[in-house]
Parts: sequence; structure tokens; C-alpha cells
Amino acid sequence: MTQNTLIVSNWKMNLNFIQAKNLAINLKKIKYNKAKLINVICPQFLLLPTLNEVLVKSDFILGAQDFHHDLNGAYTGDTSIELVKDYNCKYSIIGHSERRIFHNENNIMIKKKVRLCLDNFIIPILCVGESIEQRKKNIYKEFILKQLTECIQKIDCKELVVAYEPIWSIGTGITPTVEDIIEISELIFSFLKKEKIDKFRILYGGSVNSFNFSEINALDKISGALIGGASLKIDEMEKILTSC
Ligand code: PEP
Repeated sequence: MTQNTLIVSNWKMNLNFIQAKNLAINLKKIKYNKAKLINVICPQFLLLPTLNEVLVKSDFILGAQDFHHDLNGAYTGDTSIELVKDYNCKYSIIGHSERRIFHNENNIMIKKKVRLCLDNFIIPILCVGESIEQRKKNIYKEFILKQLTECIQKIDCKELVVAYEPIWSIGTGITPTVEDIIEISELIFSFLKKEKIDKFRILYGGSVNSFNFSEINALDKISGALIGGASLKIDEMEKILTSC
């Protein structure tokens, strides 16, 4: 698609205060084509206030990795969308497979989070993707369609990002073939068109690095990447950002 590229860095539960600050300062020094790229960094919650200061007046945008599916309440240890918004997050990752697996998040909770994002003018980055077992059994397309249907059908939304993240590719160094990514990006594209969502992007995520980024990003229905491991390495990010 002829859209500028969206790069979402998912720092996960990595980097201490000093490391995060240094990485952000070094990212700001990279000279890339700002007209062609939207750059979002999703750090741990406690890093948001500092990064909000470090990244002020830069082209980097802050995003959250998650937030609770209710506005507030007795949810010890959780974080509300209100705070995410107060610290200037314009995007939030939602339904990452690590949240689904380690925190038992289901599609009902995830749909509530999409709704909360939209009500709070935060652009949701909904993650979908199959396990290796589902791919081997050839039930991956039905599974992804179920995730899309249960998380965003009839959501009446102006802008949304969907990231295709096959679970077996996350952090493994294994990526699907280009044909596999095309197949799923087309499936997601037709679903979003049918839902009449005004503005959307489809990202690919799973072991993206400076070697495979350009080939994946050049695919017709893909307009960017959700990047985990490689987003923590300044040399990798420099190569990826300057390749656009
Ligand atoms: C992710 O977890 O969103 C991700 C894409 O991780 P990695 O790039 O490390 O596979």
C-alpha cells in the first residue's frame, strides 16, 4: 500500500532506566527520512515519564505495551489507560501473544481494550497470529479470523493497526515465507475492508531485523513492522530506519 511506514518498537520488559534513556538519546540522533516513517516506541510503563521528556520535540512517538481493560478499579498491579494517555502515548499494543499466554487475556478483554483506546484517542495496535500447532494443523486462517471477529467486529472505528505476529516467529529468528505473510495480510485486509474501517495499517511482527525488514515492508498490504529484539539494538534500528 502507498502509505508511509509505521515502525513500532516493542521494548518488552527490557532496559533499565539508564539503558532506556541512552537508547532513546541515540535513536534521536539517527538521520532518517521523517516524511516516510512514523516511529513509535513502547517501553515498560515506569520508563514512560522519562522517555516522554527525552523524546520531546523529536519525531518519536510513545506507545504503551498494554493497559487494563477497565477504566479503573481494584486491580492490584495493573495500569489504566488514563495514565498511559497522561504520559502522551498515542498508540497502544493490544492482545500481544505474551499477554494472551502469560496473563490469560482473551478476546473479550481485548475488545474492551480496543474500545477504550478508541474512546481515548489512542490508536490500537491489535496483535493477531497463530501458534505452530495451528499452522501445522492448517487451521491458522480460521483462528486469525476468529481473533479479528471477536476483537474488532462492529467496533465502528476510524483508525486501527493490526499486526500479524505468528507466535512461532516471535523471538525465534524464524520468519514465515513472503507468501505466508501475503496470504495473511490479504485475509486481514479483506476483513478490515468489510468492517468499513476508514483508516488502517497492517504490520508484520516476528523476528524482524535489518536483513529481512525491507523485503517484508515492500509487500503490497504491509505498511510497517512491530519489532521486538532488534528494536533494542541501536545499529539494527539505524539500518532499519535509514532503509526507508
Ligand atoms: C514481538 O514480540 O512483538 C516481536 C515482534 O518480537 P521479536 O521481534 O523479538 O520477534
